[in-house]
Amino acid sequence: MIVNMATNATEEQIDHVVVRIKECGCQAHLSRGEERTVIGVVGRSEQHQSELEALLAAPGVDEIIRITHPFKLASRNFRPEGSIVELGKGVSIGGAEVIVAAGPCAVESAEQIGEIAGRVARAGAKLLRGGAFKPRSSPYSFQGLGEQGLKLLREAADKNGLLVVSEVMDPSQIEMMLSYVDVMQVGARNMQNYHLLRALGESSKPVLLKRGMSATIEELLLSAEYIMSGGNYNVMLCERGIRTFDTYMRNTMDIAAIPVIKHLSHLPVVADPSHGTGRRDKVPPMARAAVAAGADGLLIEVHQDPEHALSDGAQSMYPEHFAQLMDEMRVIAPAVERRIARP
Ligand code: PEP
Ligand code: MN
Repeated sequence: MIVNMATNATEEQIDHVVVRIKECGCQAHLSRGEERTVIGVVGRSEQHQSELEALLAAPGVDEIIRITHPFKLASRNFRPEGSIVELGKGVSIGGAEVIVAAGPCAVESAEQIGEIAGRVARAGAKLLRGGAFKPRSSPYSFQGLGEQGLKLLREAADKNGLLVVSEVMDPSQIEMMLSYVDVMQVGARNMQNYHLLRALGESSKPVLLKRGMSATIEELLLSAEYIMSGGNYNVMLCERGIRTFDTYMRNTMDIAAIPVIKHLSHLPVVADPSHGTGRRDKVPPMARAAVAAGADGLLIEVHQDPEHALSDGAQSMYPEHFAQLMDEMRVIAPAVERRIARP
């Protein structure tokens, strides 16, 4: 349930509604938009349905909307104007600018990440990506450099004025990672790791939540709800391809998920055409399509020597091709009233 306060509702009137919601055993989550305050009611609201609906008569209440989706705080009704998530250093996502995160699948060495950081920054990326904890299908594959990898990532990013996004795999890694990263990535394999999601809800660090390989859009939004119900509203959702009957590509990039999620939710949507296709030559067309479809951001794997990459070389772009793709996306963005900054 969502309580839409009147545009001229006073703080006392808002406080009163919050108190009544809590008396009904529910949580009240406030979204202060430019025009009005919206209060999300979460918890077992059905047990107090009539009492909560009676709030319609409370002073300052404009309307009460019953949300039929199982996700509430992630629902578009909670913030009809859309969310802008501040990532740091003046960079935010969800506004007119499409934000690009680029870098290798995994941090491999100081030289590797240093060179890639410089090249993606010069092409206009705003975030440097790179895994330090890698969820690999085989336990014998390269598992990442751990904290040392995060140090290298942070140094390379700072030298080039970039922010850092890296994957967190376990709640025990969160505290240590907070000092190195600007965005915590939750990988596809962990989208339904509810302990991890709840733990990420306790800080305010932005979270990039990737869609599970076989997850429905509703399941993705419910996973976002786990993080948001803990009080962390700084969530971005990432379409990274799903498993279908087709085997030609590593995954099937679900471009339609972008407008569908934008309709259902206020959260910014990021597209990952690298994991979405698994093949470097298919990354540019899917990246261009994602911008045209309304993505707020892109996550793209780039490596200076993909043939020798320790993971995901086949889908990693060469830096010069990445720079060319950025230029192409700069042409497409204005057609959908967006822009991609020049370096
Ligand atoms: C990654 O971004 O490197 C990654 C492992 O992605 P996903 O969780 O989408 O497979
Ligand atoms: Mn990867």
